[in-house]
Amino acid sequence: MFGVVEGPEGSEEVAVINGDPFYAGVQLTGVRHALEDVRLLAPVIPRSKVVGIGLNYADHASEMGSAPPTAPLMFLKPNTSVVGPGDPVMLPSFSDQISYEAELAVVIGRICKDVPLERVDDVIFGYTCANDLTARDVQMTDSQWARAKGFDTSCPIGPWIETDLDPENLSIRGTLDGELRQDGSTSDMVWGARELVSYVSQAFTLLPGDIILTGTPAGVGLIADGQRFDVDIEGIGRLSNPVRR
Ligand code: MG
Repeated sequence: MFGVVEGPEGSEEVAVINGDPFYAGVQLTGVRHALEDVRLLAPVIPRSKVVGIGLNYADHASEMGSAPPTAPLMFLKPNTSVVGPGDPVMLPSFSDQISYEAELAVVIGRICKDVPLERVDDVIFGYTCANDLTARDVQMTDSQWARAKGFDTSCPIGPWIETDLDPENLSIRGTLDGELRQDGSTSDMVWGARELVSYVSQAFTLLPGDIILTGTPAGVGLIADGQRFDVDIEGIGRLSNPVRR
């Protein structure tokens, strides 16, 4: 079921809502639970797609040996790649170089196409944390990125969707087993989150629940069986997932 997470940090409650908020809006049932008493699932499973954007932070493009692309570089992750907070990332047998990528994710709230920049806030439901896990070896050898970025469990999202947030200047951090590895700001994106929604909607009709991943700051690296990766974004919270072989 769905719910609204509210209240001060550390003592949040979940107000249960009727049905699916992407279609029925938010209708509270009156039932409430302490956040610590519930298990959070992925806040949405996209109906149609996760659109990824590659090399959208100049410092990450540089560490990959690339210049930033001259236009946003898009790829797709299937909805079967999505898992929720705390769910294990299962390392695929065809790769021994899986990298983490901490990212801000945009969640679409309305069917839309060709959205002008001045209207993107009308179609954005909110924002969440994501990890765009990537099989770096396969990315280099396959000329398409479907397998490298689309394998099962390669897109953890959560812990919830923040619906009241300005995405333009937020701290974004990635932590591997408690050690800070990525420390950036969404203000360093080549194309901002709202610009990306407009741009992506020129290519794809976007449906309620679709997700746009906005790229990762510098500091990517490999993750192995038994490790844990956390994504912390200012104004949203922490997404934490263990990794298993
Ligand atoms: Mg990425």
